[in-house]
Amino acid sequence: MKLPDFELELPDSLEAAAAALAEAPGAGLVAGGTDQLCNWKFRIRVPERVVSLARVPELRRREGRILGAGLRLAELERDPEVRERWPALAEALGRVATPLVRESATLGGNLCLDTRCFHLQQTREWREAAGSCLKAEGPACRVLPKPGDRCVATYSGDLAPVLLVLGARLHLARAAAGGGLLRRVVELADFHGGDGIQRFRDLQPGEILEAVEIAEDAEAWTAAYEKLALRRAFDFPEGGVAAAVKWEHGRVRDLRLATTAYDTVPRLHPRPVLQHRGSRLEDERIEAIARDLEAEVQPLRNTFLPPAYRKRMARVLARRALRRLRPAAGAGPV
Ligand SMILES: Cc1cc2nc3c(=O)[nH]c(=O)nc-3n(C[C@H](O)[C@H](O)[C@H](O)COP(=O)(O)OP(=O)(O)OC[C@H]3O[C@@H](n4cnc5c(N)ncnc54)[C@H](O)[C@@H]3O)c2cc1C
Repeated sequence: MKLPDFELELPDSLEAAAAALAEAPGAGLVAGGTDQLCNWKFRIRVPERVVSLARVPELRRREGRILGAGLRLAELERDPEVRERWPALAEALGRVATPLVRESATLGGNLCLDTRCFHLQQTREWREAAGSCLKAEGPACRVLPKPGDRCVATYSGDLAPVLLVLGARLHLARAAAGGGLLRRVVELADFHGGDGIQRFRDLQPGEILEAVEIAEDAEAWTAAYEKLALRRAFDFPEGGVAAAVKWEHGRVRDLRLATTAYDTVPRLHPRPVLQHRGSRLEDERIEAIARDLEAEVQPLRNTFLPPAYRKRMARVLARRALRRLRPAAGAGPV
């Protein structure tokens, strides 16, 4: 499938990239291009002008807990410090797509990943024949039982749930009016929101994700990620659950659960976990937590696997992840 025509800019600094985006409202932004280029080949929201982040050195920063948004997933997965300090992140990195895709795909592209839908990621001819979809050409969403004006496309990045349970923050930058950069820092937990089209990621016009900062206490948590996918390699998650526990003398001091691929955004799930503080994560506890999570997720019929199965699998994924976190499973600090 051929890419459509567009003008490509390759700025060589963050400031130049931000300025290029500010000068051309509506311009597309591409990093590794592993998702974006596929969407443009499907003729989904093709811009006339595209700014590439491929040559922006600031995005390749790698200093302790700060990971530049332009770092490739494969290099992070191989990084001995990442594997040692945040093994669950290394695990999730290794579950994205295929080794070849991970050589091009970036951390920033994964967190800013566009939402996906069975009715969207199709050729324009397929969409037109089927009646189109709200996010592509409109006029209505074809997933909801009644044609709706809310897009329910699914966020399907593998890294967000792990970074959510590790308490990550995002460093964002955009062009300032008189030149230079305006920077802000947001919690990853506050970054995704809204529907599948409007502001499913909290980026101001022309804003660039510069880096991901992992929380200072992240190493005090033991974490694990479990993914449901059609094939173990290659496929996007049909459901994903990250769990993390902070242990104190063999008992749960704190517990976090996050999901991906169940909604337009990745989510932290604070409600089901609060009452389990102080426990040893016995089997029945884990079952209760996993059951509560299953009740919370509400997948729709817009990916390959049936929503009832994906919902049921949230319980299974949570159970698998939580069992791996118990001290007896040899997972990390107690
Ligand atoms: C065959 C295949 C299988 C895949 N399987 C998976 C999978 O299992 N799990 C998974 O998580 N992903 C999967 N992907 C999607 C994709 O490869 C990854 O999510 C990847 O990390 C995206 O990074 P990228 O640099 O290629 O992003 P791009 O495609 O360049 O961009 C993705 C989106 O992020 C925005 N963006 C990129 N960088 C920034 C930035 N620094 N600031 C602001 N916005 C930015 C772009 O504008 C675009 O909207 C798959 C892709 C393919 C082709």
